[in-house]
This record gives sequence, C-alpha cells and structure tokens, in this order.
Amino acid sequence: MTGIEWTDDTWNPVTGCDRISAGCDNCYALALAKRLKAMGSAKYQNDGDPRTSGPGFGVTIHPAALDIPRRWRAPRRVFVNSMSDLFHARVPAAFVQQVIDVIAETPQHTYQVLTKRPGRARRMVEQGLVLPPNLWLGTSVENGGVTDRITELVNTPAAVRFLSCEPLLGPIDLDKWLFPLGCPDGCGCRWPDDDERFECGCPGCADWRPAPAIDWVIVGGESGPNARPMDADWVRDLRDQCVAAGTAFFFKQWGGRTPKAAGRELDGEFWSQYPTDRSTSCHV
Ligand code: SF4
Repeated sequence: MTGIEWTDDTWNPVTGCDRISAGCDNCYALALAKRLKAMGSAKYQNDGDPRTSGPGFGVTIHPAALDIPRRWRAPRRVFVNSMSDLFHARVPAAFVQQVIDVIAETPQHTYQVLTKRPGRARRMVEQGLVLPPNLWLGTSVENGGVTDRITELVNTPAAVRFLSCEPLLGPIDLDKWLFPLGCPDGCGCRWPDDDERFECGCPGCADWRPAPAIDWVIVGGESGPNARPMDADWVRDLRDQCVAAGTAFFFKQWGGRTPKAAGRELDGEFWSQYPTDRSTSCHV
C-alpha cells in the first residue's frame, strides 16, 4: 500500500528527476531521496544537479526493478515512478521501451504513468512506441501557465488520459481540452456547439455525445511546512467542469502544513471517481 489515495502500489524502475516548474518547488520525492541516501538506500546514491535536483536524486535507471510487477499476483493499480518521471530526457528510450514492455506483459495490473514531460511521450509514440491498454497516461498541471502539457496529452493516444492538478496553485480552465475531438486544431470549439458527433457504440445510449478527451482529473492541495494555499473556488471550478463533461473527478486532499489534517471533503461530499475505459463507455 502507498499513502497515495488514488493508487494501490508504486513501482520505481527509475529514480531521480529535475525540477521544471512551480509545481516542483516542494517536490516530495526530492526531499525523500535525500533522506534515503543518508540512510544508505542503494537506489538513491546518485546525486543530481544541485540547481534543479539534489542528493540521491540524480536520474538513475534500475534494470533489476523491471521484474517486480511480474511477481505481483493480485491485480492492482500501480503508480509508475513515484520517485521520478519516466519521460525525463535522461531516461534512455530503450529503457522506456523496457518499462512499457513489462506493462504490456502484465495486463492484470493497471499502470498510472504521470509525467510533467508529455511532449516526449507524444514524440515517442509518434516514433513507434505503443502504449498498451492497461496504461493510463497522465500529466501534472498545477496552474493555467502549464496547460501546453494538456495539449501534448490529448494528442497522445492512450486508453485513459488523466490530469493531476496537485499541488493546485491557480485556476485552470479546461474548456479547450475537454472536448477537442471536434476541433483537432485546438480552436476552442466544443460540444454541443460544434456539429461533430461521434458514436460511442453504447447500445442503450440514445443521447450519445463524444467522450471527453480527458478521462480523469485528480485535484489536491500542497502539504508540508512550505505548503502554498489553494483557493476552494479553484477546486469547485474544476469539479464543475468535470461534472459537465462527464469526466471522472477525484479530490485528494485540501493540503496544509500537516498532511491530510484538513481532510478531503468538498462542500459536504467526497469525490473519489475513477475513469472508465473510453473505448467501452459513452460517458453520458
Ligand atoms: S517532475 Fe515530479 S518528480 Fe520531477 S522534480 Fe518535478 S515534482 Fe519532482
């Protein structure tokens, strides 16, 4: 088990990373790597650039970790690289392929790959990388200034695409991306205003409409001694956008100095939805 509400287990065939945006400022993995290095943990002895990374947090691949999910018998949701970013430029493409191969060969598990570098994921797919159906691809979006990551994500074919808006540091308008299927150029038009309609294939669905391009949105506030505040209206706005689109919404926590102390209730409700596979759901 992990302390992360939306997954069952973590798998770290890569460790280490570099900060690239405001969402990374208080990176928990960077701080944890420093402690693990001091404790002598073998996976965390390679130091990163002190300007963007830190002790024990240099990007390092771990071929010996590749076999771990093969030994898990019970199906589970697996967060891939909670201590890194699979699509970091310094992870060799051949190793990314090996990780994807393990995912494809263990279809009993569902893998959640969360990256702040979805552009590399898209380029690798264009170059022939095939994302298996049990891989959910997500990108982290902390405010409206990094939404180019969403464009990269929705242009990458994945069975499930999700956003992690954590730590949420500002409002995010998803309007342009929730239904981009009618406007591949990203012009901003959306259902039901455009004339494009797509059959969902659901036999009982009379009022069909296109499935949203984003299947799941996770929202959470920052926690820890340097936690930055999250406005409740930013969360409500994302919830309302997801409800209107039929996108699953998961509210993880309010955050604050003490992790989880402020709970995860939003206007008297708990939001713990998970995505359904776009290929089998009409989202109506
Ligand atoms: S991309 Fe993720 S793992 Fe890498 S520094 Fe930023 S928050 Fe940490």
